[in-house]
Amino acid sequence: MGEMIPPAAPVIGEAEIEAAVRVLRSGNVVQGPEVAAFEAEFSQWVDGRHCVAVNSGTSALQLSLMALGIGPPDEVIVPAFSFAATANVVRLVGATPVFADIDPLTYCLSPDAVAAAITPRTVAIVPVHLYGHPAAMHELRTIAAGHGLAVVEDACQAHGATLHGRPVGAFGVASCFSFYPTKNMHALEGGMICTPDPDLARTLRLLRNQGMEQRYANEIVGANLRMTDVEAAVGRVQLGRLGEGNARRQANAKTLDALISRVATPYVADGAGHVYHQYTVRIDGDREAARAHLAARRVGSAVYYPTPIHRLRPFAGPRRWDLPETERAAAEVLSLPVHPSLTESELARISEAVNEL
Ligand SMILES: *Cc1c(COP(=O)(O)O)cnc(C)c1O
Repeated sequence: MGEMIPPAAPVIGEAEIEAAVRVLRSGNVVQGPEVAAFEAEFSQWVDGRHCVAVNSGTSALQLSLMALGIGPPDEVIVPAFSFAATANVVRLVGATPVFADIDPLTYCLSPDAVAAAITPRTVAIVPVHLYGHPAAMHELRTIAAGHGLAVVEDACQAHGATLHGRPVGAFGVASCFSFYPTKNMHALEGGMICTPDPDLARTLRLLRNQGMEQRYANEIVGANLRMTDVEAAVGRVQLGRLGEGNARRQANAKTLDALISRVATPYVADGAGHVYHQYTVRIDGDREAARAHLAARRVGSAVYYPTPIHRLRPFAGPRRWDLPETERAAAEVLSLPVHPSLTESELARISEAVNEL
């Protein structure tokens, strides 16, 4: 029947190992030439924006909010159907996350729900390009412009995704990527902030390094959120394969779309270049039974995310949220393997197992 097909398969191959060893032998390991080169190369994926590397996607989001001066008593609109980091960072800077519902087809923020969530305290919107599908950036930017709000993209799952030909990460005043091993590309750990604003880029560079540009000439209060050169060297290898990996994910999704008949296959909005960080379907019956059936057929699966953020303990306050599409998605979604290393026979096995449900 074959080996278990894992839901994700991060690659640490010979090229990554050689890159890491090369940096270790150089002795220049912290935020040196590799980080600068990684930033310059990543910039080509976000329409030439300024890129600032940090130690994680979460740090990228947190630093973006800090650099924009967001704190108490500000409100920031986020989806509750995301990884907790999206809302954690709002709380980490002392602001208040306000949860808006999602579009049931794309799983990304619903522009109507965002418009309805705006209050006099709202200062920013953080759209998440969930599963690698771009959020409705044109509508969200129009709403933001009408109310003077900042848009900070959470592109941690969407390296290389596009909307009407424009890359995600090139829409907001700041946009954030993660290089955690399971993402479409990794750097062991790491994150990137992209911005068209050179002043904001400079503030971000200060904030990630104790507020210093020149050593011991501290200009502002900052943290240490630097990326290492080992990570940047691994990230450069992975970035070199991002286009190829995304094309494989898209080809795999196309094969699954054609073979799966038992459930609706993932929706792709008009003009969206989906990069399938996840290939996610809905199970209308018993999801745990479906997962057990897939596992018996040696097909791994995963649920992103079983508990929406507003129901997680740190966010479960007295306020009642009306998020019906978020609740329904959390109860129904199931992600199937779509990663670049899948073979044709594995794709057939995944589809057959799903069609037996
Ligand atoms: C992975 C992820 C993050 C956080 O990235 P880290 O590098 O793990 O800190 C934030 N938001 C979303 C949507 C993510 O998937």
